[in-house]
Amino acid sequence: MKINPVRGTHDLFGKEINKFNNIILEVKDTARKFGFDEIITPIFEKSDLFKKPLGEQSDVVLKEMYTFTDRNEEELTLRPEYTTPMIRAAISNGLLNNLPAKFFGTGQMFRRERPQKGRYRQFNQINFENFGSDDSFADVEIINLASQLLKKILPKKNISLNINTLGNRENLQDYKKILSKYFKDNQNSLSSESVSKIDSNPLRILDSKNIQDKEIVLKCPKLIELISKTDLNSYEEIKVYLKDLDITIFEDLNLVRGLDYYCHTVFEFKSNEIGSQDTLLGGGRYNGLINKLGGKDIPGIGWAAGIERLMLLMNDSPATSEDIHLAIQDQTLKKNAIKIHDYLIKNNLSVYWNYKYNIKKSLSLASEKKAKFILIIGEEENIENNYILKNLYNGEQKVVKFEEILDYIK
Ligand code: AMP
Repeated sequence: MKINPVRGTHDLFGKEINKFNNIILEVKDTARKFGFDEIITPIFEKSDLFKKPLGEQSDVVLKEMYTFTDRNEEELTLRPEYTTPMIRAAISNGLLNNLPAKFFGTGQMFRRERPQKGRYRQFNQINFENFGSDDSFADVEIINLASQLLKKILPKKNISLNINTLGNRENLQDYKKILSKYFKDNQNSLSSESVSKIDSNPLRILDSKNIQDKEIVLKCPKLIELISKTDLNSYEEIKVYLKDLDITIFEDLNLVRGLDYYCHTVFEFKSNEIGSQDTLLGGGRYNGLINKLGGKDIPGIGWAAGIERLMLLMNDSPATSEDIHLAIQDQTLKKNAIKIHDYLIKNNLSVYWNYKYNIKKSLSLASEKKAKFILIIGEEENIENNYILKNLYNGEQKVVKFEEILDYIK
């Protein structure tokens, strides 16, 4: 019986797992420098954690969540995003006493989207969240963190940062009404998919990829016209500080992001090298959300990046080769070989044994696997407690005693 993987899922191995692990190392190092602590939350949560906060009309809630009823009739969902679970975890564990509270996490997310390059049904995200500060320093810090991390993971890649402000929650509500009216007036020129969103989710029409829609969107009323002077000043301040840090920004007045909880600063880092799924990282402010989920009335800001999308842009990491390949002449030497194998590993070396009692085969395997040394345990040498150690980089070969092996290698 052959069972195929579930559509939209993939296994990570070989070169890909090297890239994945290197990303995680950079994430942890960046988190340490910026003072963010790690949280790992469960992969499934109660569905209510996502439904209202993300927006009942958002694509994620409407059609992408993996939701099921547990045996006790409780409705559970495989997490489609990490911000709400992180907030839930911070509230459940009383982690919001000292503010700002800064957390990060990495892990699998699940969305039933149409699979394509850079878009999967199970994928991995990196998340950084800052709970409790409204200071523009927090906005600048978290965007700077994203920018520094991306530069570490993808040096030399051309990644652009788009930024916008959504104003406060009322501004956004008013804007939705204005947009609905504008799109209704122009519905004859819109795609049928966009027409279906006019009442329920007009913001989503703003990032339609349809050419016809794009023309209408270009001339639509802009949210910025509704935002108060104080909020605009604070947004201007953020832009100035980012420029001071040499972070190049593009202002995109139509950038609204897909989930309902965003307000004020929103941003996306994009690449033009990976096709239509070009957003590597996206985030923004979600003031009001922590309170809505049963926590204190404190602001928050954060972002998420897709690990698989970063991997699409990464060069192969250098493969790690083994230090020593063992070549054992025949079964009678097995007892001795097992001891040497154990001794070398306990001395921190990586050792490979191919289970073939055949020196010739071992030699060719060792060079195929780019081992640094081959240690030959041969019958003749064994009588004198000798071994043949060959450096596969320069071809040098030596006869050594057991106690000399480590010295020679190091
Ligand atoms: P979002 O929560 O939609 O803002 O997504 C944040 C980031 O996660 C995106 O910028 C992508 O890099 C990544 N992402 C979102 N959905 C998927 C998916 N279905 N497959 C792979 N990566 C994704």
